[in-house]
Amino acid sequence: MSAELIDGKAVAAEIDARAAEAAAGLAKSLGRVPCLAVVLVGDDPASDVYVRNKGLRTEAAGMRSIEIRKPAETSEAEVLEIVAGLNADDGVDGILVQMPLPDHIDANRVIGAIHPDKDVDGLTEASAGRLVLGKPGLRPCTPSGCVLLAERAMGDVTGKSVVVIGRSILVGKPTALLFLEKNATVTIAHSRTKDLPALVRTADIVVPAVGRPEMVKGDWIKPGACVLDVGINRIPAPERGEGKTRLVGDAAFDEIVKHAGWITPVPGGIGPMTIAMLLRNTVIAAALRHSVKLPDGF
Ligand code: NAP
Repeated sequence: MSAELIDGKAVAAEIDARAAEAAAGLAKSLGRVPCLAVVLVGDDPASDVYVRNKGLRTEAAGMRSIEIRKPAETSEAEVLEIVAGLNADDGVDGILVQMPLPDHIDANRVIGAIHPDKDVDGLTEASAGRLVLGKPGLRPCTPSGCVLLAERAMGDVTGKSVVVIGRSILVGKPTALLFLEKNATVTIAHSRTKDLPALVRTADIVVPAVGRPEMVKGDWIKPGACVLDVGINRIPAPERGEGKTRLVGDAAFDEIVKHAGWITPVPGGIGPMTIAMLLRNTVIAAALRHSVKLPDGF
């Protein structure tokens, strides 16, 4: 048996198209298209690529993209002032501050300053609280992408046992809560978990979100299980030439693909879903703030 590959790129393109359609519908009610503002402080090359991609995908979905780029020496007060300005601007529906911020800026303070109704990254305390309490709100993007791909692959996840490996605020915890919201039975594993392979062997759905290349081995996976690999790790690839590298996930793909039911590849699995869910959140934020109904099932 060979696992079915979950094509995150194709699903992400579908989500983008639906966001574009909903954005066009919203424009009729609002008199303008939904708008996502991204703030980038400093010159981290990876962040620069992410921000550029977010802007391009936002515009490709027919929405307005604002990019605010500031030098690394920008003060925390200035960043907070930018966020306050975006909070107050009725023409802005979503605000994202690209991480990491320079060391002299308190990232938690900046995230905390984003108005929860515009928190399209779903990372403020208010959004986290809404998630824990099961109240409507903006959910974190990568975790939402994971759940959506699981449902695409397996259908309803009610009663499925899920093991999320990793308990970060960004990925592990919200992913676990989102699966719980879908009536799955969820366990969160972390670096102190005892006999992780045995625990993972019990799971119908495994979500490695650790940041350790190919840590989850083939014999940890129950035959037929679904593996949603969040990890993105760059490792040396001398077979491709001197100094070359390649991306791998936290799951040993070549071993797992032989007997899992479904697996997300890296790259091309969970990764592309993150921006798709960001666009979706921007549409949801615009609709909620202006009390406009979105198409059923959006
Ligand atoms: P993180 O904040 O470093 O958290 C890693 C988690 O893994 C921690 O909870 C840690 O446990 C746990 N862990 C570490 N070693 C472990 C071990 N040997 N056994 C079990 N658990 C272990 O990382 P993150 O931000 O959640 O990101 C995780 C991975 O996802 C990274 O590769 C990152 O690049 C990737 N990522 C991908 C996307 C995407 O769009 N696809 C988005 C975000 C992140 P403790 O809490 O006990 O230390």
